[in-house]
Amino acid sequence: MKLYYDFHTHSCLSPCGDNDMTPYNLVNMAKLLGLDIIALTDHNSCENCASAIKVGKEIGITVIPGMELCTSEEVHIVCLFDDIENAMRFSDFVISTMPPVKNRPDIFGEQLIMNERDNILGKQEKLLTLASSISISGVCETVHSYGGVCYPAHIDRSSYSVLSNLGMITEDMKFSCVEMTAEADREALIKAHPILSGVQVFVDSDAHYLENIKDAENIIDLPENSAKAVIDYIKSLPEMHI
Ligand SMILES: [Zn+2]
Ligand SMILES: [Zn+2]
Repeated sequence: MKLYYDFHTHSCLSPCGDNDMTPYNLVNMAKLLGLDIIALTDHNSCENCASAIKVGKEIGITVIPGMELCTSEEVHIVCLFDDIENAMRFSDFVISTMPPVKNRPDIFGEQLIMNERDNILGKQEKLLTLASSISISGVCETVHSYGGVCYPAHIDRSSYSVLSNLGMITEDMKFSCVEMTAEADREALIKAHPILSGVQVFVDSDAHYLENIKDAENIIDLPENSAKAVIDYIKSLPEMHI
C-alpha cells in the first residue's frame, strides 16, 4: 500500500523545538495534512514518543518511535524503532552517554516531556543538542542491537551532516539508505559521491514548528501501515557499496 510518510519531526522536547509542537498538536497536524505514517525523532531522546503514539492511535495515523541521534562526530542520524520499549531502552542509553551539561531553557527552550493531552510530565535536564559518545562507525550495529534501523539525516546540509562533517559516506558505516532535504540536488550528490548511486532516499520535513510540517507528498510502498513494516523494509535494503 502507498503511504504518505514523514520520518523526521521534532516535538517540544527538542532544543529549539517550538512549545506548540506538543505530541498532540504534531500528530494532529500531520493527520490534517494527509500523512499516513510519521516518526517523532527528537534530538537524542524518545521521551515524547509514547504520547505521540497514543495520539496517533486515537486519530488513525501511525507514529513510529524514533530519535535524531547526534554522534560523537556531530553527525545527525535518524533512528527508527518498531516498538516503544526498544526505543526507550535506546533513549536511556543515549542519554547516559551524553556529557553532564544542563539545558539552558532561556536559550534552548524547556525540553518538555508531555502526555497525550498536552499536560507537562517533566523536563529533560540534560542539553539534548550535544553529541553522544556513539561513533558513526558503530551506529548501525548499536541501533540494530536495540531492534532499530538508522540512516544519515539531511546529508545535503552544510552542518550536522555526514557529508559536511566527514566529507564522505564509506561502506564500513553500513548504511543502506539516506535522507536528503526536498531542496537537495540529487544528481550532483550522486556524481560527487558514487556510493549513493541507486540508494533509497527519504525526504522528511525535519519540522521543529507546526507550520514546517509539509503537505503529504513523499510516498513509501509497504505491505501494511505499521512501524514494523518500515523497519523491515529498511532492514531489507542492501548496504551501500561502491
Ligand atoms: Zn539534524
Ligand atoms: Zn531534525
